[in-house]
Amino acid sequence: MDLIKKIESNERLDFEDGVKLYDLDLFELGFYADKIRKNRFGREAYFNVNRHINPTNICADICKFCAFSANRKNPNPYTLTHEEILSSVKQSCENGATEVHIVSAHNPNTGFEWYLEIFKKIKDEFPFLHVKALTAAEVDFLSRKYGYSYEEVIDKMVKYGVDSMPGGGAEIFDEKVRSYVCKGKVSSDDWLKIHKLWHKRGKMSNATMLFGHVEKKEHRIDHMLRLRKLQDETGGFNAFIPLVYQRYNNFLKVDKFLGSEEILKTYAISRLILDNIPHIKAYWATSTINLALVAQEFGADDLDGTIEKESIQSAAGAKSANGLEMKDFLDLIKTSGFVPVQRDSLYNKIKIYN
Ligand code: SF4
Repeated sequence: MDLIKKIESNERLDFEDGVKLYDLDLFELGFYADKIRKNRFGREAYFNVNRHINPTNICADICKFCAFSANRKNPNPYTLTHEEILSSVKQSCENGATEVHIVSAHNPNTGFEWYLEIFKKIKDEFPFLHVKALTAAEVDFLSRKYGYSYEEVIDKMVKYGVDSMPGGGAEIFDEKVRSYVCKGKVSSDDWLKIHKLWHKRGKMSNATMLFGHVEKKEHRIDHMLRLRKLQDETGGFNAFIPLVYQRYNNFLKVDKFLGSEEILKTYAISRLILDNIPHIKAYWATSTINLALVAQEFGADDLDGTIEKESIQSAAGAKSANGLEMKDFLDLIKTSGFVPVQRDSLYNKIKIYN
């Protein structure tokens, strides 16, 4: 069947369709992605007031695309104390945060308890706060380092107060590209397996895809389809987050920025392919806030949040180190013709800013 007819009749798109979508005109693609977005969410643009905390940048792994971990290009190792982390959390709560998003490098020196105890301390002091923590890559690292099964690591996460898992560490699932950009990190199958185990506990997570480096459009479609397959089984992904690759201060030699057209097409295609993942997030820390605002017309319904402080993408050149002021964030969404909706981490609406 003709691709456009398939889209118009809401038929599920396959791998070949996904690849062909990249050949469509940007605005034609945007029209169809926007139609789905508007049917589900109207002009509402979701965001949350959150704080990203990256407790340590000392890492046992060496991903070529990474500018965050301490290495010879970034000789600045740090590990925050629990007191420092709690003080950031306290400040964020005072600023209205409802979520802390905690992602670290794979620090081999801290011990497993160091990771777990901070979750408990946060929950004890701020029981209303949603703790989103430990990517599947971190779960895999902790499992290998300390000799626990994935199930055991996940049980401990639940016990110590982790509410949901972030979507990081997925990078790109194609095994050949993956082994080039992040050899040694959690395998694609294990990334999916960890999320499946997490979903089986009745918990939600997100899924990312790092694009715009050495991967091809076929790899992006393959990545989306592997996620769609798991989502059919578990229904545990809240959001898909395409992360635009940042090219500075790392060891992956990519000499061009990905163009805006290709980025917008990827948001639109993810909306069309991922018919079972409710939210498509334009994570402005990697796309820039202006392109994220435009992405709302191309299928994206979520802009992440105010962030407050961000270390991972900004280390590689993104303009996200200090987050965004709430007022500016709201104004930007409104002046682009959307209605800001503050949500909690599970997409319950907290406040609509008409
Ligand atoms: S991406 Fe994560 S696991 Fe890879 S080197 Fe950077 S901090 Fe370490």
